[in-house]
Amino acid sequence: MALIVQKYGGTSVGNPERIKNVAKRVAKFHAQGHQMVIVLSAMSGETNRLIALAKEISASPSPRELDVVISTGEQVTIGLLSMALEEMGIKARSYTGGQVRILTDDSFTKARILDIDGDNIRRDLDAGAVVVVAGFQGVDEAGNITTLGRGGSDTTGVALAAAIKADECQIYTDVDGVYTTDPRVVPEARKLDTITFEEMLEMASLGSKVLQIRSVEFAGKYKVKLRVLSSFQEEGEGTLITVEEDKNMEQPIISGIAFNRDEAKITVLGVPDKPGIAYQILGPVADANVDVDMIIQNVGHDGTTDFSFTVNRPDYDKAIKILEGVQAHIGARAIQGDRTMAKVSIVGVGMRSHPGVASRMFRTLAEEGINIQMISTSEIKISVAIDEKYLELAVRVLHRAFGLDQAPN
Ligand code: ADP
Ligand code: ASP
Ligand code: MG
Repeated sequence: MALIVQKYGGTSVGNPERIKNVAKRVAKFHAQGHQMVIVLSAMSGETNRLIALAKEISASPSPRELDVVISTGEQVTIGLLSMALEEMGIKARSYTGGQVRILTDDSFTKARILDIDGDNIRRDLDAGAVVVVAGFQGVDEAGNITTLGRGGSDTTGVALAAAIKADECQIYTDVDGVYTTDPRVVPEARKLDTITFEEMLEMASLGSKVLQIRSVEFAGKYKVKLRVLSSFQEEGEGTLITVEEDKNMEQPIISGIAFNRDEAKITVLGVPDKPGIAYQILGPVADANVDVDMIIQNVGHDGTTDFSFTVNRPDYDKAIKILEGVQAHIGARAIQGDRTMAKVSIVGVGMRSHPGVASRMFRTLAEEGINIQMISTSEIKISVAIDEKYLELAVRVLHRAFGLDQAPN
């Protein structure tokens, strides 16, 4: 008998038929004697619909009220799944984030989980019930409803698994595991049997939305056994996120390719080339809570230099406005931008022991005439910023160039 947390994403609970299918799977595990805690997302499209509704009322809604609205999708699915289980003769109880007491900080729309009180859950499990918890939401110290950021139900699942010391956390989604890259973009992408936490963290932070990055952080920190599986297949081992590299296998140089199309580039032209300039430019941007990613400061000429960086596309207008506000103060000649950038990243722990990975990446892109506008690297990843219109092409050619379409021997 094991204690298992299963999280089902939006597509997996997208209509009543699918919710009944989830109930059947849960019933199967329950019948085998396992204690089951189920975390659910809202029906697919529902969170987007709620955000759009809010935007019809207010262009920039109060984050507190936005969370009140967008957290409702998950309350619907937990009730429906509990009903479906009860229909099958299985005792089930649903809980919102506040009812469990998933305590978060008060950063509305991107709150962080601080603590989970597992008492209700343990009591129900001991009484033989299946516990069904709303993903994506929590409650702050003052009792306000909060949400955890898009894709946040993954994090609810893993955090709950850590809090109640579950034997395994299973993330059920619409693909049967973590692939070498998004299988919707590259049909030749291959499912990985295992991927290390380190690699999964990079993949998630660089745009692979199969797992929310915070869920991977939690799993790594609290040693949660984490697996990604398909809710549309009966069988299959999915992908196990592992702490250790698989020493028995010839390690591939690159494990996966991640990408993000939501990037924008800003260049501040002709600023004085002197100490403190990066701070003067990026300080006000950071103060406005705009995340800056890649940064380049060019070589100076005649005492001035150009300074470029990337931001998330939704922050582009805000960042430009801030810089226009300080342009005179910092003595910049002009501010330019391009809101249609994308970032492509190759990720792999094998990179540590293989030189020449960057040059192979750059050559592959050059051969397709794709211009690299910015580069950033860490020990196990190389990212490039390119024009968004070349994104799919870049991912496909890199996938082939690093042999990711071939099964490892
Ligand atoms: P859910 O609603 O179940 O949380 P998501 O849409 O958040 O599902 O995440 C699953 C999707 O992630 C897949 O349908 C796939 O298109 C995308 N994805 C991106 N990168 C990868 C990858 N490397 N492996 C698998 N899926 C990926
Ligand atoms: N429903 C939320 C979203 O769409 C949370 C999730 O699905 O993980 O982002
Ligand atoms: Mg998701």
